[in-house]
Amino acid sequence: MKIALYHSGQDHSLDVANDLKQLLLNENFEIDDVDPDIVITIGGDGTLLSAVHKYRALMNKVRFVGVHTGHLGFYTDWRDYELEKLVAALKEDHGEEVGYPLLEIAVQYEGEKKPVIYNAVNESTLKKISGTLVADVYIGGVLFERFRGDGLCVSTPTGSTAYNRSVGGAIVHPRLKVLQMAEIASINNRVFRTVGASLILAPNEKITIIPVAQGTFNFTSDREDTVGRVIKQVEYRIAKEEVHFAKYRHTGFWNRVQNAFIGKDNEV
Ligand code: NAP
Repeated sequence: MKIALYHSGQDHSLDVANDLKQLLLNENFEIDDVDPDIVITIGGDGTLLSAVHKYRALMNKVRFVGVHTGHLGFYTDWRDYELEKLVAALKEDHGEEVGYPLLEIAVQYEGEKKPVIYNAVNESTLKKISGTLVADVYIGGVLFERFRGDGLCVSTPTGSTAYNRSVGGAIVHPRLKVLQMAEIASINNRVFRTVGASLILAPNEKITIIPVAQGTFNFTSDREDTVGRVIKQVEYRIAKEEVHFAKYRHTGFWNRVQNAFIGKDNEV
């Protein structure tokens, strides 16, 4: 089995990566950062996002494993003091995996012949750099609303606990292969009206956002940030491909949610 190690660059992550590399070599695993079967990330959920983007071309064959150097994360099953246990699990690997949905985003920039395709593990947002974003929102090709506000956030189920949650979106169990659109500070009054709630769409539905007043935008796809380009249209759907994780242990999703946002101190 060929394993790549991807760390956040922080001193502690680098130390953990070096320790893990030595443990893996002792057990005759091959370290291969170019064509791995498994990518182990060391850092946080954000580090895992970066690794998925780095190994985008290998998405169909590669499985990810996350080691967290802080708290338990949403994409990370292992803590930095559990390296021996992780190596033991890798030795017993039988191809265990779980797949989570990815977002496919097609952005039509002004002056480009074809849309640029992005994939997001968490979410994508569209915001106007200054002033109000005015945009028509289509669901399945049918006009749904004219949005006015700071922006829109379209997330995957695993991304629902990230930016989506901060803007009031619902937390979605990752076994539901759906996409969610949440509003970022919409304007709602007697003149302007949006639905005023986040929407959860069926797996085969697509969302199209067409800015009405042109201008320059801030478009994000996970950690990627595009600022200042004129955008004519953005289309969101669930991608055919999924991101795969090697699952050697199970931490219930609601357990992670409780751990991250409520904590044991709040137990009744
Ligand atoms: P960052 O600003 O350095 O960190 C963002 C925080 O979001 C980190 O604590 C990260 O956890 C956490 N996070 C990432 N994915 C998550 C998930 N699926 N569920 C729950 N928490 C999650 O940014 P970054 O590390 O480059 O990560 C990019 C992500 O940050 C974006 O995809 C977006 O979702 C999120 N973000 C959130 C806000 C907000 O909530 N207002 C604003 C900007 C970006 P770790 O500490 O484990 O890495």
